[in-house]
Amino acid sequence: MNLRNRLTLGIGVLFVLILLLGLQSVRSVRQLSVASKDILADNYNSVHYVEEMLRSLDRLSQDSTSRGVLINSLALQQQNITEVNEKEVTSALTRKIDALTDSVSIAQIQEIRDDLYRVMELNMNSIRSKSSGMESRAEDAVQWLTILSILCILLAAVFLIRFPAVILRPIDKLKQGITQIANHNYDERLDFGDNKEFRAVAASFNDMACKLSEYRRSSLDRLMTEKKRIEAIVNSLHEPIIGLDPERKILFMNNEAFSILNLKRGNIIGRNAAEIALNNDLLRRLIREVYAEHDDQEHEPLKIYADNKESYFQMDNIPLYINPVGETQQQFVGNLIILNNVTKYKELDSAKTNFIATVSHEMKTPISSILMSLQLLGDSRLGSLNEEQTQLVGSIRESSNRLLNITGELLNLTQVESGKLKLMPKIIKPIELIEYAIKATQVLTERFHCFVEVEYPEKISKLFVDNEKIAWVITNLLSNAIHHSPENSRIIIGAAQHDKRVDIYVQDFGRGIDPRYHKSIFERYFRVPGTKVQGSGLGLAISKDFVEAHGGTISIESEIGKGCRFTVSLPV
Ligand code: ADP
Repeated sequence: MNLRNRLTLGIGVLFVLILLLGLQSVRSVRQLSVASKDILADNYNSVHYVEEMLRSLDRLSQDSTSRGVLINSLALQQQNITEVNEKEVTSALTRKIDALTDSVSIAQIQEIRDDLYRVMELNMNSIRSKSSGMESRAEDAVQWLTILSILCILLAAVFLIRFPAVILRPIDKLKQGITQIANHNYDERLDFGDNKEFRAVAASFNDMACKLSEYRRSSLDRLMTEKKRIEAIVNSLHEPIIGLDPERKILFMNNEAFSILNLKRGNIIGRNAAEIALNNDLLRRLIREVYAEHDDQEHEPLKIYADNKESYFQMDNIPLYINPVGETQQQFVGNLIILNNVTKYKELDSAKTNFIATVSHEMKTPISSILMSLQLLGDSRLGSLNEEQTQLVGSIRESSNRLLNITGELLNLTQVESGKLKLMPKIIKPIELIEYAIKATQVLTERFHCFVEVEYPEKISKLFVDNEKIAWVITNLLSNAIHHSPENSRIIIGAAQHDKRVDIYVQDFGRGIDPRYHKSIFERYFRVPGTKVQGSGLGLAISKDFVEAHGGTISIESEIGKGCRFTVSLPV
């Protein structure tokens, strides 16, 4: 029998039993109430009339109204004859009461009394027999009601125990099935036997599981194909590529990467990169750079010997993030290391550096001879020049000096770029460097009518630096300060000691530099937009390289309209 029929039958039987119980209860109560009313009307009233008549009989000789009450009660009794023989006895009683005269004898009263007792007895007997009948009917009713109540309770108990189990068992089974599917066990199937309702649910569930299983198989195939495709793409790239997961396990590596890392495909994929790096210097270097904290500075290209030749690679570390389905927050899934082959650019760059070095070097001698010739031209012993000629000589000298400066800067730059920067340190007092710079810029100071003030403490440590390079830096800073200051302004140059460092600073009160350019001015060829003073944009970049080669730093403090203060900080 299916669940619906079982439920309908159970609840139907329970309903019929409760209905029977109610009907039986109503019927029994009604029967008892009719019986008690009968007793009241048929017998109790007769007993009451007889008592009235007995009392008026007793008072008959003393009370004149008693006869009236007697006759009245007799009339009521005559209308309430309900028992067998009651009619005859009541008729005899009527005759005797009617025969009563004013002189009543005791014998007459006794006879009437006897008749009255007989009426009373008849009614009392009837009351007794009727109440015993009522008692047995009440007992029957109690019996029936008890039986029906027990049946109801038994059925309800069966319902209470069996019903939840009948409903919940298949639901539990269904729940377990759904949990299995949620855990990707798509082979799970349900069977509810002859349970008709749940059989349909099981059929739908099994159908769904079957489709999911098919879907997984097909999507797995698709995923595998896509994976292979991506592997093929990664392998076809000429740049070495390595993929790491957040635990530093190697996810993939293309052939180029295997080749430059000198590793053999095999059991590399899936292994921890740090573990492989123990026996592989290049991988160790790559991993160190990937996981170096707060390292946002640009890295030098890596020099790698592969296939018997020297190559340069620029490492790109790309952290990978995905948006998991249904989540808004991004999740870190690993790093992608790409090594860009920059050998060609490196070769071009060094060709450019060599070219600039050669040209600058070759230009230095002719420029020096031009300057020398100009010196001779200005000598009055060789003849005097007219005003126009003197002016021309002055402007040629100025341009030649600028040319000499630029060739000097370019030569310095080529030294830094080619890595051939050689320091020849000497012990020197900071004041000597300051004095050198002041002297070297004296002509400029006079031309722009600047006042250079020197701030120098009494006690200051000596420095161990390449005096030519650092003097060049200070001179460049002082020359910039003069060029970017209005005429007749002050320039402060000085030194100060801070613990184990000596600061040499140059401060001017010119137009200053917008803070957003503070980083860029130390980059090659950068010039603050709108700068009218001529220049190459190389001075500060070379200064930075020179100072950093000494383990020092160069910094700027400036705001627009408030001048600049450049500080070179060197270890003692
Ligand atoms: P150059 O002076 O040859 O252009 P630098 O590297 O020495 O190159 O300076 C870069 C730029 O920084 C300059 O072009 C100029 O705009 C700015 N600059 C440098 N020093 C000062 C200064 N003291 N006051 C204002 N601007 C300056």
